[in-house]
Amino acid sequence: MRDLSAGPRVLLKRLRELMAEPLEPQERLDRIVRQIASNMVAEVCSVYVLRSDGVLELYATEGLNKDAVHLAQLKMGQGLVGTIAASAQPLNLSDAQAHPAFRYLPETGEEIYHSFLGVPILRAGRTLGVLVVQNKAQRNYREDEVEAMETTAMVIAEMIATGELKKITQPGLELDLTRAITLDADGYNEGIGLGHVVLHEPRVVVTNLLNEDADKEIERLAEAIGSLRLSIDDMLSRREVAQEGEHREVLETYRMFAHDQGWVRRMEEAIRNGLTAEAAVEKVQSDTKARMMRLTDPYLRERMHDFDDLANRLLRQLTGFSGRAMDQGFPIDAIVFARAMGAAELLDYPRANLRGLVLEDGAVTSHVVIVARAMGIPVIGQAAGVVALAENGDSVIIDGDEGQVHLRPMADLVKAYEEKVRLRARRQEQFRALRDVDPVTRDGKRITLLMNAGLMVDLPQLAESGADGIGLFRTELQFMIASQMPKLEEQEAFYRNVLRQAAGHSVTFRTLDIGGDKVVSYFRSQEEENPALGWRAIRLSLDRPGLLRTQLRALLRASAGSELKMMLPMVTEVSEIRAVRDLMQKEVQHLSKFGHGLPRKLQFGAMLEVPALMWQLDELMTEVDFVSVGSNDLFQFSMAADRGNARVSDRFDILGKPFLRILRDIVRAADRNKTPLTLCGEMAGKPLSAMALLAIGFRSVSMTPTSIGPVKAMLLGLDVDLLAGELNQVLDDTRSDVSVRELLVNFATTHNIPL
Ligand code: PEP
Ligand code: MG
Repeated sequence: MRDLSAGPRVLLKRLRELMAEPLEPQERLDRIVRQIASNMVAEVCSVYVLRSDGVLELYATEGLNKDAVHLAQLKMGQGLVGTIAASAQPLNLSDAQAHPAFRYLPETGEEIYHSFLGVPILRAGRTLGVLVVQNKAQRNYREDEVEAMETTAMVIAEMIATGELKKITQPGLELDLTRAITLDADGYNEGIGLGHVVLHEPRVVVTNLLNEDADKEIERLAEAIGSLRLSIDDMLSRREVAQEGEHREVLETYRMFAHDQGWVRRMEEAIRNGLTAEAAVEKVQSDTKARMMRLTDPYLRERMHDFDDLANRLLRQLTGFSGRAMDQGFPIDAIVFARAMGAAELLDYPRANLRGLVLEDGAVTSHVVIVARAMGIPVIGQAAGVVALAENGDSVIIDGDEGQVHLRPMADLVKAYEEKVRLRARRQEQFRALRDVDPVTRDGKRITLLMNAGLMVDLPQLAESGADGIGLFRTELQFMIASQMPKLEEQEAFYRNVLRQAAGHSVTFRTLDIGGDKVVSYFRSQEEENPALGWRAIRLSLDRPGLLRTQLRALLRASAGSELKMMLPMVTEVSEIRAVRDLMQKEVQHLSKFGHGLPRKLQFGAMLEVPALMWQLDELMTEVDFVSVGSNDLFQFSMAADRGNARVSDRFDILGKPFLRILRDIVRAADRNKTPLTLCGEMAGKPLSAMALLAIGFRSVSMTPTSIGPVKAMLLGLDVDLLAGELNQVLDDTRSDVSVRELLVNFATTHNIPL
């Protein structure tokens, strides 16, 4: 391997000394450029720093007119310097003026210089500025000189990232690294969060950049790569990833990168050129990222994430940093940024400090989003590239209503949002004031308002929201956040705890609804082409009766002496209910045989989510004690529109005639059979759709706890019979094309109903 020649070696030694001296930022920059110029025998050396307005400003120079410092400017993409910044690639030219991008800056008097070498100042793949040397004579800069310049550029990047150069930024201007950015994404849970960024996978901060002994650093790198390769092989050989699947594919990609000789060679070269092992990893990572960030192919961009992950692992090996956000201290107003995250990982963060969650991918129905919603924090999804733009500790505002992330917001935006938060708080206050008001409509109908839950963190909301009880307890969440199948005793203790905290309010437990999009890591099933229509929920439970019987036993034991209310998800044929009832009977016999206490009362219900049940309504209603409509699934199956696919999930209106007629038929069947009926999908929690539900005859609805207040405020002002008259007329009229949504909005406006 080639070693640095004497010149660059001396330069790096001087740089090390310069960085250790207590100097003012401008003085340090001036001395750096002077040092480079003299070391490379160049007439000119200049530093340009990228400002938040996209302008590259001259920050220091040796050789050009000194009066031009902080005055000479170039736009991104303009001239040679702008081209380097835009492409994030070095330019090494023996005749700069022959280059098509050459641009003459009169204030600097640079026309007499022929040779030009410029390198981007990069951090995590982002361009922060450009470092340039120029010579009068035509010459070619050697490869090791280019490398020495890149190493110096890293030192300057560090000065920018630590805020040192901020001190010499002209008043009223900002550096690009601290630029305010607004990103349009998707709002997955409403609400506004003001706080500070916590990167779920924080970058390792490398402060020790320049090495003193290259051989020693190469040895350290080799050792770290060795352990990295071993740990990947170890992960690959574990049982849970032994089969095919996405996880394995990612690990295989890691392995491929880890054995890539090109990658290792580039890092070794960077060490030979003066960097420490960790700085070399960071440099190669940043260069690679800069190149890949400019790719549009989604597959290759995904590989960039894999590569980034791997480089971070290597950095952790070298620095001993745990890689956990929590180990870096946790602000009291944390907004967690992650590319992707599991539900359990979110629960690891202290709830009291969490102000929001931002995900680069995810879907509204992904587990982590369900859990975040249960915690009541605003969530933004599909925020592409946001993690690379944010630094730990950046101030941030997220707007779950509009689906926006405002990184490093300006003061006036912060003010506007603080006002918005105050308004929201006032509205919440008004809703809280309704907590003990009975949910009775204007025309005297008592409506049962229930809340949805699934984790212990949800329970306090029962008292806070004033809900009548829990209409849907998603038991699968306990399974989804556990690393292994919860045992009988754990399930029983959990249900007992739920019942105790519910303090006499009714709780409707839904048996396991796993499969489909609700993946339980330790319960492997085959890949399915259409998981939503696949082996899930009750289908899986009936085929694995051991699993279901354990859950039934846990539920029965936990409710000994009180009422057990439970229901089955995704029922397609009434015979499935009978099969579960038989299993339940067996469990009851088993428990009484061994002298266990039994529930005082057992209420056995079914969810109506599969359209086939529409033609078994009377059988269904006579078979069960109650029915709960899962409108999320019933809508997706009725409309053949995937609820997790943003391109089709909003295509059809849930308040359109077809779906409301379906729901009305269900109400009629329940009335006919005197079967208690509830609806527990998301539509129950939106005041406008809840209004429609009451008008077509629902008297019980279950929703996220934060919706109880707004829905109650709506129904207190609603004359149900009056709206029912108007709505039924439209639903019965096969010729009318009146929009039900418009009818509802107009009704609310005319009658002063808050939505
Ligand atoms: C539903 O489908 O409407 C429902 C409440 O169940 P989940 O959202 O858990 O599928
Ligand atoms: Mg469902």
